[in-house]
Amino acid sequence: MKPYLKRAWAEVSLGRLKKNVEVIKSLNSPGTEVMAVVKADAYGHGDEHIVRCLNAECGINYFAVSNLDEAIAVRKFAPVAEILILGYTPPEYAHEIAMYNIIQGVVSTEYANALVKNSKEPIRCHIKIDTGMGRIGLKHDTPAQCADEIAEMMKIDGLSVEGIYTHFAVADSDDPDDVAYTDKQQSFILDTYDILSERGICLKHVHFMNSAAACYRNSPRSTLSRAGIILYGLHPDISLDIPQGLEPIMELKAVISHVKTVNPGDCISYGRTFVADREMRIATVTIGYADGYSRLLSSKGEILVHGKRCRIVGRVCMDQLMIDVSCVPDAASGDIVTLIGREGDDCITADELASVYGTIGYEVVCGISKRVPRIYID
Ligand SMILES: *Cc1c(COP(=O)(O)O)cnc(C)c1O
Repeated sequence: MKPYLKRAWAEVSLGRLKKNVEVIKSLNSPGTEVMAVVKADAYGHGDEHIVRCLNAECGINYFAVSNLDEAIAVRKFAPVAEILILGYTPPEYAHEIAMYNIIQGVVSTEYANALVKNSKEPIRCHIKIDTGMGRIGLKHDTPAQCADEIAEMMKIDGLSVEGIYTHFAVADSDDPDDVAYTDKQQSFILDTYDILSERGICLKHVHFMNSAAACYRNSPRSTLSRAGIILYGLHPDISLDIPQGLEPIMELKAVISHVKTVNPGDCISYGRTFVADREMRIATVTIGYADGYSRLLSSKGEILVHGKRCRIVGRVCMDQLMIDVSCVPDAASGDIVTLIGREGDDCITADELASVYGTIGYEVVCGISKRVPRIYID
C-alpha cells in the first residue's frame, strides 16, 4: 500500500471469496449453476478483481448486474461469460446490449418491442415475472395467462428469449406466512415454465434463487442461483444463520491520528453531544461519513483497537471520528484500527454495524465510498 493511502482502506480477501464460492456450489444441486450477482461494484468490493477471480479462478460463467454500464465493465473482466442485466436499460441503448453480447431482463411486451426496434442485431433476454415482489415484470393472475404472454413474446422478431426468472420478497424469513408466500411465488414461475414446456416451448433457464433461497430453500429446479450477499459472506437477514464456511471477505481499517487525555467537562466533536464525565483517553481515527462510515453511528458504533472494543464518542465527522481508548493505554498515533473485521477473538461484521443503525449489511458494504481504496489480499 502506498504510504499516503494509509488512512482508511478496505481489505478484500480473494481467498475467502473462493472459499465462499465452494460453499455456495456445495449448497446447489448438480443442475444449478451459480450466477454471481456483482451489481453496485460487486456490493462495494470492486467488480474488476471480484469478477476476474470468480471467472478465471472459480470457473463462474454467469454474472448479474443492474445496468448497462456495469455489464460493459464486467464484459471487459470476463470476456466470454454470460451477463444478465437485472434492471432497466433505456431502449435507445439496445444496440449496445447486442454489441456486447449481454442478456437483458425484459419486464413487459411493450419493453421487448421497444428494445428490438432500437437494434439491428437480435436481443438476448430473460423475461422477468412479478410473482409477488411488486417491483418489475409480467404480472398475471394465473401461470397459464403468463405463459400466453410469453408465448406471444417469443414471436417478436429480433428477440431471443432464453429464460424466465422471478425474485423472492421474503425468502430470508422463517415465518410460516412468509414461507407460504415464497412457496406460492416459486410455484407460479415453475407452473408457467411447465405450461410453456407442454406447449413445446423449452427454455434453457428458469431461475428464482437469491442468496436467502440458496441458503434456506434450495431448489434443484432453479437452473441458476443468483448469489449476491453470501458471496461476500454476509447474511441475507441477520436473524438467521448462514451455512458454515461463509465468511465476510471485506475488512475496513483506518489509523489513529492523535491521542489525548481529556478532563471531566471537555466536549468532543460537533454539536457538543458528548461531554466527558471523567478523565478519559480519546483517540481520533482517520475515517468519517465521506468514507461511507455512517454518521448514524455517532456515539453508538464500536471499533477494535488492539483487539478491544472502543466506543465512538460524539458525532462522526466527514473525515474523522473520535473514540474512547481509556481501556487501551498503549493506543498510539499511527496504530491501525478495525472498523469492520476481526482482531484476535473479536469481530465486528458489516451485519453488526448495520443493526446498530437500523439497516442491513448490504447497505453498509455498498456504501463504503470511492475514496476508500480496496486492497486485495489472498
Ligand atoms: C440483487 C438481486 C439478487 C441478489 O440478492 P442477494 O440477496 O444479494 O442474493 C438476486 N436477484 C435479483 C433480481 C436481484 O436484484
